[in-house]
Order: sequence, then C-alpha cells, then structure tokens
Amino acid sequence: MDGRLRRVARDAIGFMPESEGLALYRAALADGGAHLLLEIGSYCGKSAVYLGAAAAANHTVLFSLDHHRGSEEHQPGERFFDRQVFDDASGRVDSLPRFRATIAAAGLEDHVVAIVGASEAVARRWATPLGLLFIDGGHSDEAVRADYEGFAPCLVGGGTLAIHDVFEDPAQGGRPPFEVYSRALASGAFEEAGRTGSLRVLTRVASGI
Ligand code: SAH
Ligand code: MG
Repeated sequence: MDGRLRRVARDAIGFMPESEGLALYRAALADGGAHLLLEIGSYCGKSAVYLGAAAAANHTVLFSLDHHRGSEEHQPGERFFDRQVFDDASGRVDSLPRFRATIAAAGLEDHVVAIVGASEAVARRWATPLGLLFIDGGHSDEAVRADYEGFAPCLVGGGTLAIHDVFEDPAQGGRPPFEVYSRALASGAFEEAGRTGSLRVLTRVASGI
C-alpha cells in the first residue's frame, strides 16, 4: 500500500494497528473489485483508509457505515472516550468530522462513501451484493449478531467476511465478535482465509449464513 496512505491511516484516530490494517487492505485488494465493499464501524476513518485504498486500486467503492455517536465504550466517562471526538455544541460524541477529514486527507473521497445511520436501520433496507463485508461496529451480542444477520446474506460467492476484535480468550476482550466468527465457520458457508491480531478474514464457500 502506498506510503502516503499508510501515513494517513497511521495518523488517524482509531482502533486498528497497522499490521491488521494492511491485512485488511490485502484481503480487499484480492477481492478484485467486481462488487461493493461495506464497512460497519467507520469511527474516524482509520480502517476506511486501508479498505478505501484497495477499493480505489480495484475501481470500486467502499460504503462505510456508522451513526458516528460512538459505541458504549466511547461515551464520556467510559474506557475509550476521546475528547477530540466529542462535540461540545450538541453534547454528544460525533466522529463524522474526523472521518471526513481522514478521507479527504487520503484523497479517497471518490472511493469511500459514508452512510450515516444505525446499522439496524440500513440493514433492513440493504439488498446490494457485497464483495467484502467488514464487521467492526457495536460489540454487544445483539449488535454483532444483527450486523452479521443483516448484511452477510448479501456477500457474494467467493466474497470476503472480515471481523475485528475476535478474542478467543475472554480476558482479552468481549466475546460477541468471536461468537459470530465461530457461527460463520460452523454454518459451513465460510472458511477461514487468514488471521492477523484480532482480525479474522473468511471467504464465502457456500450460500447461507
Ligand atoms: N473501524 C474503526 C473503529 C470502529 S469503532 C477504526 O478503524 O478505528 C466502532 C464504531 O461503531 C463506532 O464509531 C460506533 O459509533 C459505531 N457503531 C456502534 N454501534 C453502531 C450501530 N448500531 N450502528 C452504526 N454504527 C455503530
Ligand atoms: Mg475494532
């Protein structure tokens, strides 16, 4: 991946180590670009730079979905609260300005399209086939399950399902992403294609979820 884009990704606020970001980039690049890419959980655009760089190389588009109000752990007083992502005027978390700035700095505005809203609301109306789905939104049991059930059916054969924050050991992090990852494998519809840190990359090998 282009050194300038790597720098933009490194400088962006967020939750994606470079090794995982580059693995995501390679997975998206290998996908070939015949279909759209969808990311759930944009935050300040860090992972979107890696995925967007691959989308640009493949002449396709990444849709990056987030309500930009933060997950539970991003709220004031919580573990991952960040003052820079808080809007004093509204008194709420708002990561959209940072997201826009990151994508503009990366020069990826033609290849990364923001969808601002709750994933549940978008999933109910989503029917577009996907070449890649990256799940990195809300980490509660209901949220991860809803994201998987809402969007994974749209993944085309050979398409890529990437899941972040997959921790087998509960001491390292919450279990819902691991549970959905296990469920995807157990369904027989997906096979593991790679793992880097807490990132798991799966490939669709049969229909269903
Ligand atoms: N991929 C990002 C990190 C995402 S953090 C990076 O590279 O840094 C998780 C994001 O999911 C937060 O920005 C939060 O606002 C969003 N989110 C949580 N629940 C959501 C929901 N139900 N709908 C849409 N976005 C949600
Ligand atoms: Mg994450």
